[in-house]
Amino acid sequence: MIDIRRNDIETTCAVCGRTLLLGERLVAYESPDGADARVCELCVDQADALGWIREGSLSVPLQLQSARTRPRGLKGFLGGSRQRRGVPEPFSPEALPADPRDAVEAGLELFNESYHPRTVCGISRTLGDPRVSVVMRSHREVVVTVVWDLSWYQFRVDMLGPQPVTLQQRGEDVAEIDSRFQDWNAQAEPDGTLALAV
Ligand SMILES: [Zn+2]
Repeated sequence: MIDIRRNDIETTCAVCGRTLLLGERLVAYESPDGADARVCELCVDQADALGWIREGSLSVPLQLQSARTRPRGLKGFLGGSRQRRGVPEPFSPEALPADPRDAVEAGLELFNESYHPRTVCGISRTLGDPRVSVVMRSHREVVVTVVWDLSWYQFRVDMLGPQPVTLQQRGEDVAEIDSRFQDWNAQAEPDGTLALAV
């Protein structure tokens, strides 16, 4: 199991160097030189890729091994399960929705299958409900912006990319965000998953 802890003291993420917000979850790792390393939820993929060992795990994380042996290419995408929590499977080009609203919903679906809702949920417990914007950037790409009074995160969902959901930018002041990403057309559920506003 992944050992996820609440952040009760001021801590910085060993991967991105960001100062974690109080209440935000973090994962305890051991770096190759044996040092303790706290990693924010946005950086667990990088920590796994660096070969860091999750504290309390007996071997190399299984998730990394299965990601490596997962068949790639169209056949793999079509046959793959999209249910695995944390790393959603991208769409196949044929399955990409043509209708813009469907595409935005498909982008949110991938976001919700990723581990990022846990971050949204964790920060919301401290800072309250966020404002959420979802904007289509291209036929395969959706930009998700999640904004609290003291913090904002912007994610890129590439529905065809091997790692569909990535953190693009983050900041503290909503004024830093381009106005086209400030149409609050979606909302966060208590579990951090996102849905279009009705
Ligand atoms: Zn980090």
